[in-house]
Amino acid sequence: MQPRDLSAHVEYVPGRGVEEVARDLGLDPDELVKLSSNENPHGASPAAVDAVRDAADEISVYPKAAHTDLTADLAEKWDLDTEQVWVSPGADGAIDYLSRAMLDPADPVLVPDPGFSYYGMSARYHHGDVRTYELSKADEFEMTADTVLDDYDGERMVFVTSPHNPTGATMAREEIEALLSGVEDDSLVVIDEAYGEFAEEPSAADLLDDYENLAILRTFSKAYGLAGLRIGYALVPAAWGDAYAKVSTPFAASEMALRAAIAALDDGAHVEKSVESAERAREHIHDHLDAPTFDSEANFVLCEVGDGSAVAEAAQREGVIVRDCSSFGLPGCIRISCGTEAETRRAVETLNDVLAELEATA
Ligand SMILES: *Cc1c(COP(=O)(O)O)cnc(C)c1O
Repeated sequence: MQPRDLSAHVEYVPGRGVEEVARDLGLDPDELVKLSSNENPHGASPAAVDAVRDAADEISVYPKAAHTDLTADLAEKWDLDTEQVWVSPGADGAIDYLSRAMLDPADPVLVPDPGFSYYGMSARYHHGDVRTYELSKADEFEMTADTVLDDYDGERMVFVTSPHNPTGATMAREEIEALLSGVEDDSLVVIDEAYGEFAEEPSAADLLDDYENLAILRTFSKAYGLAGLRIGYALVPAAWGDAYAKVSTPFAASEMALRAAIAALDDGAHVEKSVESAERAREHIHDHLDAPTFDSEANFVLCEVGDGSAVAEAAQREGVIVRDCSSFGLPGCIRISCGTEAETRRAVETLNDVLAELEATA
């Protein structure tokens, strides 16, 4: 026997891991610089690491109090009701919860192209249909209300990533408001702010007070450095009441993840340091890479290098792992995550050597 027809489904293509690449190349993982998954190069807050160690004593018990505590902390941070905070295993988990809450079979969702593949994957799991709106390289991947509305046709969910992955572009607040007003009342606009901490543009979360068709996604994976724990959340309309209990997996996040997130939220200095470090790295890449780059408000920079997969492969042989953007539909581009100062410098030097070499042999 077989699973259901999965032929229309796609796989998530992650950035490659250090151990994996080190094994392939016969190198020591410590010699590699991994700037392919937008992780925090400074790790997690030390307070979060301590919280994980302490939580180790509690792991035989289902996580309940910690879930309530994190939800309360987030509700306070965003000035919302606790019912509007949907804690999840990564923001990816929150995407699933929103799909479950919103989609009847064959309901369409509208997602950006290029864009984050999990929106469409989640919709398909939940028997939804996937349509795309185009972000145009010629317009620097600009995102306005019309960029979305031009392709909008009453879809049940409309995804906007701001800052966008992999382009780094943001959608201005006025444009988000125009989009919220421009769609039908029963279309949910989901603003994915996975990289929100790195942006000048403020969060759209306060618009939850004024619009009933808005949800926000946030994560602890990026600026907070907790990618390995899988913890994120959605902020949802006030009118949804107790829907969370009906769509979430029981005990959505682990005791360790919850305790770490509570501690990480409390360490604003670590986030600030991480954001400043990313800003410096962005500037370094823009200023010193011998290839055109796109403006970014996230912890990565999209770069136009000609043949993304050739450049990424050649850099990898030199121990620098960056993301070939072919799987995003941008085969001419790579995405470089912001590293520590030393990592970013080495990545740019290596990539410049690779670019010069490829040009010489072309
Ligand atoms: C990384 C990322 C997420 C969520 O990641 P989680 O680790 O599941 O929290 C969501 N959206 C985008 C665009 C991302 O790049």
